[in-house]
Amino acid sequence: MSDLREQYLEALGIPMWKLRAAPATTVQTADAAEPLEVVAAQLVAGSPASPAAMGWDELAAAVRVCTSCGLHATRTQTVFGVGRRDADLLVIGEAPGADEDRQGEPFVGRAGQLLNSMLRAIGLPRSEVYIANILKCRPPGNRDPQPDEARTCTPYLARQIALVKPRAILAVGRIAAQWLLQTDAPIGRLRGRVVPYGEAGTPLVITYHPAYLLRSPLAKATAWADLCMVKDLLRKPQ
Ligand code: URA
Repeated sequence: MSDLREQYLEALGIPMWKLRAAPATTVQTADAAEPLEVVAAQLVAGSPASPAAMGWDELAAAVRVCTSCGLHATRTQTVFGVGRRDADLLVIGEAPGADEDRQGEPFVGRAGQLLNSMLRAIGLPRSEVYIANILKCRPPGNRDPQPDEARTCTPYLARQIALVKPRAILAVGRIAAQWLLQTDAPIGRLRGRVVPYGEAGTPLVITYHPAYLLRSPLAKATAWADLCMVKDLLRKPQ
């Protein structure tokens, strides 16, 4: 965790976890059927293939054949991410659900439709942002991601963040927020402010997950305030 973010969260009185081991930086891949997947698999076989050094195509191929955690056994397909690879805004969710697992794209179910409306409300059609999840595979029965699954998958997301270089990040939901900030503070304490994220200090805004907003429509007003924060961040000259 960067010093800046650590100091910031400490000042806010938000407790942080300390990782017992650094997140994995290598991935293991399964046998590949397509040329890019062969390349990804060979890279892993020949030397430790770090997502940190991958370009988009290589990264997508590595995710497609990833068997680094147990979730590969139950997925229909991986869900890499979607959208503009040079987007100003990166949206980060938790993990694919049943619809996403079937279609191979994040946020395509009912929660995704609400997310689209939320983005449209701040002048950002879905096609203008990049959307990814902490996990690239669906946890069975939509259970919460386990820490070891998130840890194993994090190098992929870290590389997506580095490649997109967004001007702002919007994390939706408790799981994404807590994992990104390495804290177990409740989402009610994490939302409503801008936190510098990562080495680049990218402004990170946290809001409620659209699935929660579907169940608790009264919270939409609070989420709107978070979205306005994102809008303001993106309005600022670069
Ligand atoms: N919820 C998420 O967090 N991500 C998805 O892609 C779908 C639902």
